[in-house]
Amino acid sequence: MAADPVSTTEPRILFVAGTRPEAVKLAPLILDLQARSHRPLLVATGQHREMLDEALAGFDLRADRDLGVMAPSPDAVVGRLVPALADLIRAERPAVVVVQGDTSSTFAGALAARYVGVRVAHVEAGLRTGTHDPHPEEMHRKLVAQMADLHFAPTAAAAAALRAEGIAAGIHVTGNSGIDALLRMQARLAADPALAAAAGAPLAGIATNRPWLLATVHRRENQGQRLSAVLAALAELAADAQVIVPVHPSPAIAGPVRAVLGARPNVHLLPPLSYASFVALMGRAALVLTDSGGVQEEAPAIGLPCLVLRDVTERPEGVATGNAVLVGCETAAIVSAARAVLNDAALRLRMRRPALPYGSGGAAGLINDVLLRQAVPASVQTTESWSRSDGHRQSSPASAS
Ligand code: UDP
Repeated sequence: MAADPVSTTEPRILFVAGTRPEAVKLAPLILDLQARSHRPLLVATGQHREMLDEALAGFDLRADRDLGVMAPSPDAVVGRLVPALADLIRAERPAVVVVQGDTSSTFAGALAARYVGVRVAHVEAGLRTGTHDPHPEEMHRKLVAQMADLHFAPTAAAAAALRAEGIAAGIHVTGNSGIDALLRMQARLAADPALAAAAGAPLAGIATNRPWLLATVHRRENQGQRLSAVLAALAELAADAQVIVPVHPSPAIAGPVRAVLGARPNVHLLPPLSYASFVALMGRAALVLTDSGGVQEEAPAIGLPCLVLRDVTERPEGVATGNAVLVGCETAAIVSAARAVLNDAALRLRMRRPALPYGSGGAAGLINDVLLRQAVPASVQTTESWSRSDGHRQSSPASAS
């Protein structure tokens, strides 16, 4: 694609993002770098174009480049993205390519960078279920670990998983930058009544006569029969709660969700929400049922009881703190676990106790400290004294090691 005026001869930090969670979790890094007078380059792959743009907009960000690669399957996304990203990386010659998480864009970004010979940094490294599920995410994150030079593990357990796979260097335990994003958005919602009103608008018609039960489902392994069982549970739980489902646009999800829940009383099918609206909704819900990775991390921080619609999770920390319970995808198990939370005050109290097992909001700063110290040559770092918004540092630039 044609180069735009963003191009520079200065080696920069290049971020690759394709989906909503990548946008949410990379936004704090990009904002922090901008606050330090750096000009990171954000490349959107096009994988989930609209949801990515929406999530970036929540942080007043937009991609510098958009590769526009949309394809129906992970293999097609990766197959088209690798050469497109490699060309862009060759042209831009960044100091480092940063990928986040475990999507097809993450994998393609790391692979393209390695083919071109540029260093790779992986944010949210080391998450493992130890099974083949979720597929292809577990495969992506294991393969990215083999390609990355810097591994930003959110927790000690994630770092240990990397070491167990033979990764000997470059591991840094930083917390998850998704928690930075969450705390930032919560603070903005609290400080800005106009933003809070706009964020609450999609929820305006939902009655408060019953507790709000929020549900999100999108994982590939939960399609088909497992999705049917989850939807049957949600239909049953509409007798106890206002069931609110921001519907993932994937046809394999949206079709069955609308067919089963479309006409039910006390069920509210919403379009995918802006990040501000979703954070506002999590703050008002009594319970979340989810197979989302990001929501599993956010719920403990908010003190929102979380029932995980999976058989295994790569995020066991929220289960260990008592904020989350793995319930799987059987209708009766989901209904009884949800009713237990809604009706048992002592259990609810335990699950509502806020906890920060995934970090406490400083991940982006820590990650950027390492990126600037180890990946960006000292010669291109700013020589001005700079100050970060959190007042963490005011000094000459980090030295390259
Ligand atoms: N999210 C959002 N709007 C929604 C649903 C989720 O902004 O309607 C946010 C949520 O707060 C979290 C992220 O999207 O930060 C999770 O994305 P998703 O569940 O699609 O992916 P996963 O985390 O499972 O990879």
